[in-house]
Order: sequence, then structure tokens, then C-alpha cells
Amino acid sequence: LGKKISGALLKLSKDYSFDESLLNQVLKEISLALLQSDVNVKYVKQLSDNILEKFKMEEGSATNIKKLIQQCVVQELTMMLDSKKQPFSLKRGKPNIIMFVGLQGAGKTTICAKYANQWKKKGWRTSLICADTFRAGSFNQLYQLAMKIRIPFYGNITETDPVAIAKEGVKIFQKQNYEVIIIDTSGRHMQESELFDEMKQIYSAFCPSECIFVMDGSNGQACFNQAQAFKKAVDVGSVIITKLDGHSKGGGALSAVAATESPIIFLGTGEHIDDLETFKAESFVRRLLGLGGMIETVSEVVDLESQKQSLKLIAKGQFTLRDLQQNYKSILKMGSLNQFISMIPGIQNINQGQISQKEQINKIKQSLIIMDSMSNDELNGITQITQKQLFRISKGSGQPIESINQLIQEHRNFARTLKKLIPSIKDCDSKTKKN
Ligand code: GDP
Ligand code: MG
Repeated sequence: LGKKISGALLKLSKDYSFDESLLNQVLKEISLALLQSDVNVKYVKQLSDNILEKFKMEEGSATNIKKLIQQCVVQELTMMLDSKKQPFSLKRGKPNIIMFVGLQGAGKTTICAKYANQWKKKGWRTSLICADTFRAGSFNQLYQLAMKIRIPFYGNITETDPVAIAKEGVKIFQKQNYEVIIIDTSGRHMQESELFDEMKQIYSAFCPSECIFVMDGSNGQACFNQAQAFKKAVDVGSVIITKLDGHSKGGGALSAVAATESPIIFLGTGEHIDDLETFKAESFVRRLLGLGGMIETVSEVVDLESQKQSLKLIAKGQFTLRDLQQNYKSILKMGSLNQFISMIPGIQNINQGQISQKEQINKIKQSLIIMDSMSNDELNGITQITQKQLFRISKGSGQPIESINQLIQEHRNFARTLKKLIPSIKDCDSKTKKN
């Protein structure tokens, strides 16, 4: 979905003469991309109508209008991700029973532990229950996670009835005044009606305070039906999308919100316990739009002074290693880098989206160490980095030559991507060619 919309936006930035038929064509492409991702027809039509309306009101140059459409797309998609329903808020001093549902492999057990950990860190008395008797390893999986984060855990490998386990666990934790009692349920395949029945039984045994639907972000087309099936079976109150650290941009999130009429509360962005992000609609949309959102994200993260400089250089037709350095520094300052990293095609390709946030941070730190050993002229793209310079930088930074070459390659890819978006940027190849 992201790619398709980016394509449509890219077309806009390439086209200098702008007219209504082009707008219609672009809207058609965006609408198609949304429809193919199972977003409700109603919402797609609404997006298209609203943009058309705003466009008609706007007088001015083609660049203004391009910007306006980009803004509109972001605004409209952000609105689509807003379910207009407040997410459940935990009550202090009460047993808040939170049940997790979703397909097998969606990431429920992992997210249960992440969710538990973040409430525990905020000072809530938190506990975990494994009510998955379907998958053999589930008990151990949640038990290990609970040990790691030091959260009380209840499970029973000899009991086969998940309702009985959940009842017993809730009873124990309620007695001990636990405020957040999390129930992990078994994964189910769409066709298995008994498993849906089992989920309904657990649900009706407790009427939990909140039922969270967990969805694998890379599911794509099937999202709407899947989310709807769960919503029909139990009263889903909120949604968590997982596995957004890989290639998936999470287009299915729109469908999940539309089908469940519930807000997304968190995103799972890796296998590690800390890979949990609070959901923010607008930044999610920018990520979803991929390259289309990149320019704005880039200018959003760099501080004002360096942004001015970058823009000046870009206007002059350059994107230098210095610009990359400044962007990397701002990313470290911001702390959240998944979103940015996934927008740099070079890095994405090299790592196949399989590295953890920690590794990504280390990689950026390493790049900054390397760049610290470069001269001003090298950073500003005034002198070439030849074999001799490579040795010097390697010695100065204590980093292997191949890492320096990799960084130069990443910069080249980045500059190329920018060049696609802003045709006035020159290819940096001439400056950094291997010698
Ligand atoms: P469940 O069957 O729904 O309980 O899913 P699990 O929690 O057992 O997760 C299935 C697999 O996905 C496991 O190998 C997890 O480590 C992995 N996983 C879960 N969440 C994420 C995530 O956000 N990113 C990545 N890359 N893997 C995840
Ligand atoms: Mg599980």
C-alpha cells in the first residue's frame, strides 16, 4: 500500500504542470491502493471526496497544490486510523482483566509480556495468565517471558480446559489485589470454529475489562475479514499491530480499525521486550506513505539551523555526507528510529529488516564515529574519498574499511532516493566513486 501511494505522490512531484485531470488520476491510484488493501470503500470514497474539495478551494502554484495534496492524504489517512472511540483506561486499585485474542502466530504471547512489562514499569501490580492449552510450547514461552520481566505468572500444564485455567488464575490474582491481570489465549486459525467457541467461552466467563485484538502487520489483504471475524466473536475494544519492524508498513492497520471500530493502542516493533511503541496515528501514516512521507520526516527531525542548511544544499543540488550526519544525530536525539531506518532503502536492503532496534542504533553510532574521522571537505562532498582516505578514516575511527564503504553506499542510496523525490538533486556518485 505504502509503495503504491508513494508512487502516486512521486508522480505529483515529477509533474510540473499540474491540472485537475492529473489530480483525478492520482486520487484514483491512491483509492485503488487503499481498496486493494481492504480498506472500507466508504472511507476511500470519503478520502477522495475530501481531497477533491480541498483542492478546489486552493488557488496557487503547482508546488503549493502538491504540498496540499500530500498534507490532505496524511490528514485523511490519520482520520481513518482514528476510531473515534476512547481506548480503555485502567482503573487503579481494581482488577483490570485484559484478554488478548488473535490468530496463531500473530504475536499475542510476545505482546502480552511487553504490555505487562510496561504497566509494571509504571507501577501497576501486574500479572500474567497462560490460557493457551492448544499450543504445546505456550506455557513455557509465557513462563520464560514472565520470569525475565519478573511478573507473577499462572498456568497449568496438566489442565486442558482454558476456561478453568483462566478462572483459577484470575481468582488467585484478584485475591492478591493485582490491578492488571492479563490473559493470553490460544492462537486460532480462521476456519477452526471450536477455537472461536473457546475464545467466546473465556470471554463470557469474565467479561474482561478489555479485549485486545492482536494482528500481524504483514497480513495485508486478509486483515479486514480477519479483524471482523474476531469482532463478531468477542467485543474487541482495542487493537495492537505487531511485526512492524520488518518489511511491512502496516497497511492492514486501516482495515483493522475499520473492521473493529476500535483504536490501535500499541505497535510491536521487534522480538525484544522493549520493542513496543505507543501508537501515534500521524507518524504511522507518514511511515505508511513510505517515500512520500520521507521528506517531511527528514525535515521534521533535523533541528532548525541544520534544516536550513540542508535545504540550502538541496536547493543547490547536493545531499552530502554532512547532511546524512546531521540526520543521524537527530535520530539519536529523537530516540525512535525504526520509522526513519525503514525509509532508507539502502539500510533496509542490507539488513532485510531483520535487525533489532538496538543493532540499528549501534549501526548509526558506528556511522557517526566514522564520519567524525572524515575531514570537512570530505563530509561536504568537496573532496573525493579515495583508497588513501579510506585507510586514514579507518585508522582514525578504528572501524574496518568495509564498514566505511558500506556507509558510503548507504549515503549514495539515500541521496539517490532524495534525488527521485527532488529532481534537482545531483547524483553524488561522481564524488564518492571508488578509486
Ligand atoms: P502467538 O502465537 O500469537 O502467541 O505469537 P507469538 O507471540 O508466539 O509470536 C510468534 C512469533 O513472532 C515469535 O517467533 C515471536 O518472537 C515473533 N514476534 C512477535 N512479535 C514480533 C514483532 O513485533 N517483531 C518480530 N520481528 N517478531 C515478532
Ligand atoms: Mg501464543
